[in-house]
Amino acid sequence: MTEIRTTLDPEDWTDLRALGHRMIDDMIDRLAAIRDGKVWQQMPDPVRAGFRAELPRQGVGAEAAYRDFAETIAPYASGNAHPRFMGWVQGGGNPAGMLAELLAGGLNENCGGRDHVGLAVERQVIAWSAGMLGLPRETGGLLVTGSSMANFISLLCARRHVLGAPVRADGLRGAKLVGYAQAGVHRCVPGAFDMAGLGTKALRRIPADADCRIDLAALEERIAADRASGMTPFFLVGTAGAVDTGAIDDLATLADIAARHGLWFHADAAFGALAALSPTKRGLLAGIERADSVAFDFHKWAQVQYDSGCILVRNERLMLDTFAQAANYLVSDARGLAGGAPWPCDLGPDLSRGFRALKVWMTMQSYGADRLGAVVDRTCALAQRLAARIDATNALNRLAPVPLNIVCFRYDDGGDDLDALNADIVADLQEAGAFVPSTTMIGGKRAIRAAIVNHRTNEADIDALAEAVIAAGQARRNRSP
Ligand SMILES: *Cc1c(COP(=O)(O)O)cnc(C)c1O
Repeated sequence: MTEIRTTLDPEDWTDLRALGHRMIDDMIDRLAAIRDGKVWQQMPDPVRAGFRAELPRQGVGAEAAYRDFAETIAPYASGNAHPRFMGWVQGGGNPAGMLAELLAGGLNENCGGRDHVGLAVERQVIAWSAGMLGLPRETGGLLVTGSSMANFISLLCARRHVLGAPVRADGLRGAKLVGYAQAGVHRCVPGAFDMAGLGTKALRRIPADADCRIDLAALEERIAADRASGMTPFFLVGTAGAVDTGAIDDLATLADIAARHGLWFHADAAFGALAALSPTKRGLLAGIERADSVAFDFHKWAQVQYDSGCILVRNERLMLDTFAQAANYLVSDARGLAGGAPWPCDLGPDLSRGFRALKVWMTMQSYGADRLGAVVDRTCALAQRLAARIDATNALNRLAPVPLNIVCFRYDDGGDDLDALNADIVADLQEAGAFVPSTTMIGGKRAIRAAIVNHRTNEADIDALAEAVIAAGQARRNRSP
């Protein structure tokens, strides 16, 4: 019987070094040629079945595991790195961020707390983010999984703010808290109300106007009605980049309304926040600098690898008040590695945390904010190009304004069953591996939604998408009786 090694490191590093070099070469080759491959392909059944195998008692070694990766994992990735992926709102990633993931893995930092460089890098990223949005330098924040978590954290801070310290021990005790957001609010915001124990009904969904922005008069009416019926309005969400259309609420007026009614003003700027780096688009965010908290993602328009979301809270103290817990073994000290307070674990719900900040930091250091702003500008210009193309084509109808980088439209030949037809067109394009748009409902109509987020997408991709939608629509019609 061979003895089982009790360290995971090799006896001799030579083979690992060669394997590591090959992995990096392969991934760089893959990125360099990404445009030539399919956007996405479905896993064949045998591949799918392979992922139901039992836990291996004996390992096959990193070399063989990498062979498996190359054959059964890499080919079936979701495709959002590809320039013709326009589904949902997903970033394409970037080469510096990819390498940063390797570096972070090597360091294996736990960024929950203590006095080490990971926390300094994260604080720098938070300070950069606050500066980008015009919030004060002392703004608190954390890198988190995504805007879903960031929105949840902001809601918990607001709940702590309005109910005071007792809420942490006693819970809601019948408090009738209500919050407000536009009808197109992302699903994670009602989800946050659910998780925070407030219930989804406590989020009032205010109608949107023709530009898909929150109707300000309806908002004021609803706040007044809630107050009159004994509710406690406490939280106002401004959507900066609605997920369906890219619409940005009138944040400056929302900040006024929040101030007038004593509400916590939160901006869900999941992807829209990056418009702050674009000279031509940043004006759309006016008022965000007055927010009490902002949720946004680096993994969308900023092209940083998944996952990398960010929560900013103007008053860092409130994050501590909301999340800090006493534990003897975790007390921070003035000296040694146990210094470095306040620790991220006291600013949010996670104790152990990876070094998410490194890939953000590497991306910003490598390319600079202006280059990311140029990506934002370009993707918006590509969206305008697609919108113009749609507007000039009889068989295509545009279903929403295009303030940023999302275009909602559909194939419309005047025939029946346009909802089903457009859903089929999207699935056909996806299954062919040619394009990945997604669908949504706009005004009760099934829309094809092209969210142009990826820095690799170009004019030819946009023109080809319009052609492909028309061709797929015609092919479907010709096929059916
Ligand atoms: C993507 C998105 C979210 C959710 O963010 P995740 O990073 O996926 O958790 C929330 N709000 C808006 C407007 C979004 O676009």
